[in-house]
Amino acid sequence: MKVYLHTIGCRLNQSEIETMARQLLAAGHEIVAEADQADKVIINTCAVTSKAARDGRSLTRRIHRHNPQAEIILTGCYAAIAPAELSQIEGAGRIVSNQDKDKLVQIIDPQARIDLPVFDQEPIMREFLAGGRVANTRAFIKAQDGCDNKCTFCITTVARGAGRSRHLGDVVAEIQALTAAGYQEAVLTGVHLGSYGRDLHNKTDLRDLVAAILTYTDIPRLRLSSLEPWEIPDGFFELWRNPRLLPHLHMPLQSGSDKILRRMARRTSRASFRQLAAAARAAIPNLNLTTDIIVGFPGETGADFEESLGFVREIGFTRLHVFAYSQRPGTAAANMPGHLPNAVKKERSHRMIALGEELSLAFHRQYEGETREVLWETAVGANGAGLQWAGYTDNYIRVQAIGPDDLFNRITPTELFQAQPEGISGQIL
Ligand code: SF4
Repeated sequence: MKVYLHTIGCRLNQSEIETMARQLLAAGHEIVAEADQADKVIINTCAVTSKAARDGRSLTRRIHRHNPQAEIILTGCYAAIAPAELSQIEGAGRIVSNQDKDKLVQIIDPQARIDLPVFDQEPIMREFLAGGRVANTRAFIKAQDGCDNKCTFCITTVARGAGRSRHLGDVVAEIQALTAAGYQEAVLTGVHLGSYGRDLHNKTDLRDLVAAILTYTDIPRLRLSSLEPWEIPDGFFELWRNPRLLPHLHMPLQSGSDKILRRMARRTSRASFRQLAAAARAAIPNLNLTTDIIVGFPGETGADFEESLGFVREIGFTRLHVFAYSQRPGTAAANMPGHLPNAVKKERSHRMIALGEELSLAFHRQYEGETREVLWETAVGANGAGLQWAGYTDNYIRVQAIGPDDLFNRITPTELFQAQPEGISGQIL
């Protein structure tokens, strides 16, 4: 069977699609790069914004138009919150909920094994890495799913259900197999990583998980995807004494106004976030602190927005993911008073994005003339001097440099120069 895989949205979705791909390859199926070559298409949908949901619908129609024979299987958060709506889309085939997603490959091929011992997957992982198909050089590892918080704008907690953790031993074994297969970097993902282990009998936490990965695997680089700014285990930042744990933290603030943080039911405040950011910076040299910000939340006045801008500048984030508030049916905020016109949300997005670019450029400028380790991922162009490669430093600065043909998945010392808001140029040493 030829299968085309597509994921929309977060890194957790990415890690799930990568696992499905490995299971399909292990079952003897072929992963194809183009949907019009496929017998089956799997789309891991997202519902975090109305745009993400729209992307899932239009992709389904488009693939069906070009390949009406293929069955299109839809899973993910959009499939979880609106299965009936999604099944009405032209071309939509089976809808598989998030709860059944881990069994999806067995649903489409009952002979396939989804519990393949991790080490038996190593050749698959090696072929997968070499193929450079769905995966890139960083392996996204699902450590946790679901969330017990109730942020008022969030549909993810609705779509993915209660918080649940994978067993520490399974995560460690998967990362060791990926390392043996040649991966240079693992990215721990979850909906609410900070709650890792809370549901497990032997009361481990995220600190234990990270420490175990650093101790029992040889992965050269370990990165955390996103960490809500509360429930950070005690002594967590001490783990960064190990240079394999990368100096990059993505901690969604969502708003720099305490009034709006309360309306969002976020379990953080300006004061506690300021303290957490200071503690992280004190413990982690060269820390790249990035965040998510929602602008135009219901009830956000001009003064609240200015306060948010001011706080973002004060914390000095180094990259912002800016979202204009998107009303999601099924969330508490959808029924709140004070929804803002799109024009206001758009104007505030532009201003917050501009601030983000200013802060990113200032951060990248600090590294001009410095040498850092870069993991090279993709060739993005070529000129007379060679291939133009793109990759990331340990502290998640995007670097582009001219280099030899065989740079894929290699880590090299690179001298940095010429900062830009989106990254920096490099000279491979
Ligand atoms: S912590 Fe809040 S924003 Fe994050 S997944 Fe849970 S409910 Fe959603």
